Amino acid sequence: MKAMLLSLLALLAVYFLFVLIASPLVEKDANQVIRRGPYIVSEKAQALFTSLDFVADMHCDALLWRRDLTKEANYGHVDFERMQKGNIGLQAFTIVTKSPKGQNFHKNDGNTFDMITALSIGQGQAVGTWFSLMNRALYQCKKLHRFAARFNNRFIVVKRKSDFEELLKRRQVDKTVIGGLLGVEGGHCLEGEIGNLDRFYEAGVRMLGPTHFFDNEMGGSAHGLSGGGLTSFGFEVMERMQDKQMIMDVAHSSEAIIDDILANYDGPILTSHTGVKGTYDSPRNLSDKHLKAIAAKGGLIGIAFFKGAIGETGIPGIIKAMQYTKALVGVEHVALGSDFDGSVMTPFDITGFALLVEEMQKVGFAEEEIRAIMGGNVKRFLLENLPE
Ligand SMILES: [Zn+2]
Repeated sequence: MKAMLLSLLALLAVYFLFVLIASPLVEKDANQVIRRGPYIVSEKAQALFTSLDFVADMHCDALLWRRDLTKEANYGHVDFERMQKGNIGLQAFTIVTKSPKGQNFHKNDGNTFDMITALSIGQGQAVGTWFSLMNRALYQCKKLHRFAARFNNRFIVVKRKSDFEELLKRRQVDKTVIGGLLGVEGGHCLEGEIGNLDRFYEAGVRMLGPTHFFDNEMGGSAHGLSGGGLTSFGFEVMERMQDKQMIMDVAHSSEAIIDDILANYDGPILTSHTGVKGTYDSPRNLSDKHLKAIAAKGGLIGIAFFKGAIGETGIPGIIKAMQYTKALVGVEHVALGSDFDGSVMTPFDITGFALLVEEMQKVGFAEEEIRAIMGGNVKRFLLENLPE
């Protein structure tokens, strides 16, 4: 009996050591940058960047990892202190709950081994999150609220218009006040139960993308097997989202789902992180037809920063996608959607947005256009669309 207890304790000790040592290593490997800061830019770029009152990025997966996001880390892409340093007003925190082994942009089967199960166990998360996608999502929501509560009243989880107005107002006098918006990447964490959407909403989620890398109960993924549109459950979720004025995120959805949404959804639409087929033809990216239709509905196109979306690793690819989208649908629909901490390599971490401004100036974006893309468009969109 004693021997059994001892070996159990030894096993637990090995597990906790593994969690402590291995989980930062796994994250360091997953979320890399071409170059770490400090990032030095021209005086002209720095002056404009510093004068931006509201910079917003519509996608990051920072909640997936084990880091304490209130503290500045020397790895990964996003944390609250780096948001402050980087003059960020709002970051969307999007929740990933399942990722099939061998994940790719072409074809994924949702029934293969799930890497997030391994990550949840390996990171020492509560047992309830090991095998339930819904618990995983709720856990990440709770994490953001917990971090916010510990950040000296300087982090606002934006759930309604009044929260957002408070954020904007406080930032006028104190730019260390920052905000976060909760989103979900893939409706599989609803586990086929419409009532779970209400639970997510209560937990603060205001944006949802029907699918991620594989087909689920809501419909087909851009990288799945079926290519199908919304299922009847997908339609049911869409209707409930509309009642709640939730933001529909079409990133990763099959073309058929995007068609269904564009034809039927009456609430706010955007794509939180994407590339465009016009500069890089990939199943991950949006066609001209869809870009135009999203813009026609007043939506936003969040341009992502990683190779799978822009065709290269580096700032020029981001700029090209922005120029293309601007020329096609107008600058008022272009936004930032980095995919920071989404198991991608990015040119810089969240303290490096001045580099983007510098490059935008070089290729001839006007000051007003830069202000719009860096956050002005998101500000307008949220003021128009967040529930009262
Ligand atoms: Zn994604």
